[in-house]
Amino acid sequence: MRFEFASSARTIFGAGTLSGIGPLVHAFGKRGLIVHGSNPARVRGLVEALSSEGVEYRCFSVPGEPTTELVDEGREHGREFEAEFVVGFGGGSVLDAAKAIAVLSTNSGAVLDFLEVIGKGKPLTRPALPCIAIPTTAGTGAEVTRNAVLACPEHRLKTSLRSPFLVPRLALVDPELTYGLPKSITAFTGLDALTQLIEPFVSSRANPMTDAVCREGLCRVASSLQRVFEHGDDTGGRSDMAMGSLFGGLALANSALGVVHGFAGPVGGQFPIPHGAICAALLPHVMEINVQALNERAPENPALPRYEEIARIVTGVDGTTAFDGIAWVAKLCSALQIGGLRTYGVTENDVPALVEKAAHASSTKGNPVALTTAEMTEALSRAL
Ligand SMILES: [Zn+2]
Repeated sequence: MRFEFASSARTIFGAGTLSGIGPLVHAFGKRGLIVHGSNPARVRGLVEALSSEGVEYRCFSVPGEPTTELVDEGREHGREFEAEFVVGFGGGSVLDAAKAIAVLSTNSGAVLDFLEVIGKGKPLTRPALPCIAIPTTAGTGAEVTRNAVLACPEHRLKTSLRSPFLVPRLALVDPELTYGLPKSITAFTGLDALTQLIEPFVSSRANPMTDAVCREGLCRVASSLQRVFEHGDDTGGRSDMAMGSLFGGLALANSALGVVHGFAGPVGGQFPIPHGAICAALLPHVMEINVQALNERAPENPALPRYEEIARIVTGVDGTTAFDGIAWVAKLCSALQIGGLRTYGVTENDVPALVEKAAHASSTKGNPVALTTAEMTEALSRAL
C-alpha cells in the first residue's frame, strides 16, 4: 500500500481561536492582503488583531464566486501594496480566491495560463505567498485543499487551479464565526460537507488516513447538521459542523470526489446555483445509482461495504443496508428544504450537454464505478 497525505502546515481549531491570530500572522510579514466577502464589517476582529501587532493591511472584496478576472485583479491589488502574505476570511469562494491570489502573486502569467480544461494548464512552479485561511462557513473545507475553483463566465464553466502550492500555510477554524449563519447557507454548506465525506470514503482512491477522517467527520455531520439547521445557536453542533467541513476538505484533497462533484462544475458554471445546493440535489440519486451499478457490475468492489458502513454511521443502527443510508440522506435533504435543480432553471433539455461535460470532469474519475451515459443521465434527471 502507498499513499500520500498533505495538509496545511498548521491547523488551529476551536471556538474563540480567532482572537489569537495577531502573533501568528506577524510571523508571515508586516504587510497583508485581506481577502473577504461582500460585508467588510465582518473582518473587524481580524483587522484589530493585525493592527495591534503593527501589521499593515489592505482589503480586497470577493462578493460572489470568484472569476478568473477577479483573481487577476486581486493579484494586482496585492502587488501594488507589496503584500507579503494573504489572509482569506470568508466562505469557500473567498478562501479559493485568496489561495489563487497568493499563488499567482509569485508566478508570472495570467490565471488562464494555469487553469485546467479551458486554459493552458501550465504548472505553477513557484511557492505561493504564505496564505492564512479562516473559514466563516462550515462546508467546503477549502482551508486545507490544494485546488481553487474559479468561474470563467465566457466559457460558462467552473474549473480548478490545482497545485500543492495552493494549500494554505495556516488554517484557522473558529466555529464561533459560523454561529450567525442563515438557515439556507447552513443547509447548503453542511450538505456539501456531507458529500465531501461520502464521495472520498467510497472513492477508488481512498486510503486509511482519509478513511479515518471520513468516519469521524460523518459521525459529527450526521448528528449535528439537522440540529444546527433548526437551532443555529447550538454551539456544540456548530463545532461539529466546522470539524466535519475541515475533515471533508482533508478527505477530498487526499482521496478523490465522485460523480456528484463531477456534475457540480458544469451545472454551477451554467446556472447561478450555490455549489452546496447542486451537491445536495444530486447526492441521494448518485448514491443510489452507484450502489445499483456496483451490485450489477462490480459486486466485489470495496465501495459496496463502504455504503453499508455509511448507513450504519448516519442511522446509528447496526445491520442496515446501503439503501437505508441513502434514504436517510434523502430525508435529511428534504428536512433541510433542498429543492430540485429545476427550481433554479435547469430543464430536461440541458441534461445531455451537462452529462457530456460531467463525464470529462476530473472529479468523475474518482467515482467508485464508471457510470454509463444512461446512468449519468438518470442521476441528473432525478435531481431536477
Ligand atoms: Zn463540494
